[in-house]
Amino acid sequence: NGAHTDGDDPTAVELDGVTRTYGDTHALRDVSLSVHEGEFFTLVGPSGCGKTTTLRLIAGFESPTEGTIRIGGTDVTGVPPESRDIGVVFQNYALFPHMTVGENVGYGLRFADPPDGNSSDDRVAELLELVDLPGMQGRTPESLSGGQQQRVAIARALAPGPELLLLDEPMSALDARLRERLRLQVKRIQTELGITTVYVTHDQEEALSISDRMAVMNDGRVEQVGEPRKVYRRPATRFVAEFVGDNNVFTGEIVGVDPGDENADAEQLIVDVDGTQFSIATDGRQAVGSAATGSQAVFCVRPEAMVPDAAENRFDARVTGTEFLGETTRIHLEWQGRELLLRTAEPLDGEVTFGFEPDGAHLVEIR
Ligand code: ATP
Repeated sequence: NGAHTDGDDPTAVELDGVTRTYGDTHALRDVSLSVHEGEFFTLVGPSGCGKTTTLRLIAGFESPTEGTIRIGGTDVTGVPPESRDIGVVFQNYALFPHMTVGENVGYGLRFADPPDGNSSDDRVAELLELVDLPGMQGRTPESLSGGQQQRVAIARALAPGPELLLLDEPMSALDARLRERLRLQVKRIQTELGITTVYVTHDQEEALSISDRMAVMNDGRVEQVGEPRKVYRRPATRFVAEFVGDNNVFTGEIVGVDPGDENADAEQLIVDVDGTQFSIATDGRQAVGSAATGSQAVFCVRPEAMVPDAAENRFDARVTGTEFLGETTRIHLEWQGRELLLRTAEPLDGEVTFGFEPDGAHLVEIR
């Protein structure tokens, strides 16, 4: 696994072959990944995939059963959380209700002098400005909205000037509109400070919108690490293809390979899906070659790549549902007993014909 050798930025956090078990449960299975300095890095995946365990290991609240964790290049196994120079914000890490906002933020300085020789009061004022709550020192937590409270919690975590910020689902208790606003604010704060941040969420849309890079986790493993656009466009596994965004995933037998004209980019596979043949571009990244004939191919087509006027890969299907989403309408189709998704400007019903161009498909895996 070469996940920790990509990119040239210095490595801020590195997990090397980390396994964590609880009795018979494998919370993490041989996870290796690295977070670059100054990066906004997100761990995303369904409930129970091991995101929180990964964050707790980085924070030092847990130790690995096997493997090594390095922060700033130093092995931190056995280093207690308070010696790790890390700020942490949890989902329900409530503020102290009997303390004012200012006292809550100041509490973050209990083990540390304020950075840059500031007084505590100056530091608290500076942090409240940073999280866009200037002058709120005297307020009580209960007089703040949920989003404001989480920003105070972020200010408290940032107070000692840590090297690393860890955020575990800090927005999951908030409503959708507030979550969108807060994630922009969190991203702005992170960019302003340039602080390396590891963020945990189960919300793939949030991960796509906020991250420099993201790791998609499933069942204790990392399935893919990459920039959001890349993960969205080129999912590395079937799980990622289905978890990140809407997708149509097909499995079929490779019945032909067209090498194209001297140009590897033009290579196309003919894949038979229950008697219907589809042409799939392999985009040259994964030269397949004729030896693949007879193997199973998994490929995916995003709803937005399914269009009524495609020249190739056309099929007839029946509309089974429409969801009006404002800007677009999500259409559910049934084709050969499968459910497919597409997006259109106008609602549709009845029998429809759709298709996709060969390069609108992405080859996920061959097996
Ligand atoms: P969620 O989004 O639901 O918080 P997660 O992706 O953060 O999920 P983890 O909390 O890391 O997942 O848990 C991963 C697995 O490890 C789960 O099967 C969980 O039940 C198990 N696990 C985590 N902590 C413990 C523990 N202290 N004791 C026993 N099992 C645990």
